[in-house]
Amino acid sequence: MCVMEKLVHSNWALSNMKTHKWKVAIVDSSDINAYVLASGHVYVHIGLLNFVQNDNQLAIVLAHEMAHALLGHAAEKVSYAQIIDYFVIILMAAIWAFMPFDGIALITQAFYEKVVQILLDYPYSRKLEKEADIVGLQLAAKACYDVREGYNFWKLMRFSEQLQGSEIPEWLSTHPSNVNRQELIDHLLPKAISVREKSHCPPLSKEDPRNCLKRMEKMVQNVLTARMTGQNLSKLPKHVSS
Ligand SMILES: [Zn+2]
Repeated sequence: MCVMEKLVHSNWALSNMKTHKWKVAIVDSSDINAYVLASGHVYVHIGLLNFVQNDNQLAIVLAHEMAHALLGHAAEKVSYAQIIDYFVIILMAAIWAFMPFDGIALITQAFYEKVVQILLDYPYSRKLEKEADIVGLQLAAKACYDVREGYNFWKLMRFSEQLQGSEIPEWLSTHPSNVNRQELIDHLLPKAISVREKSHCPPLSKEDPRNCLKRMEKMVQNVLTARMTGQNLSKLPKHVSS
């Protein structure tokens, strides 16, 4: 996949870039998903390939996965999980001492694992995701991709979730919410654009691709309002001109 090659080639000077075996494999699944192994093998679902609008958006996602591998997140997560297990075992032993019944042990284990996941594991995963978003945007900028498309990718993901009614609160998720990722990318853009300029990339298009999705946002809001109020979409005020 040439997007991956371009990312690897443009960031080759990074110290641990050479220690990974960068490869991309396609997974026959309609889910919009991608993930990476510590080795540098990136798996991209067909659903994601169908979802992205251009190579710039694909590069943002692949660069995010590369960042996970470069930052050693897989190994970091394993050791963190071991610390959590250690505390759960101590807690279980304490409860077991007072209530030595099989049923209670099973219920308390399930309960505490869930509590630990929500209190510790979820925020930690979100921290790693944020790190990978920050570093990934730099990798994409260095490879001369239009980093503004990162904002568009997360905004499109949000539209998709809103229209499907599948938004979940951030505190219950291992990933930052799409709106937070979109805001983070927006905040990081000036720095990423300056990295791009210093890398002697061709200038970005004058028409900012984010404007297109800002117009689309009004259409999505119209659809959501029509659903909530049961109104006919054609009778709603038109905000969008083609
Ligand atoms: Zn990630």
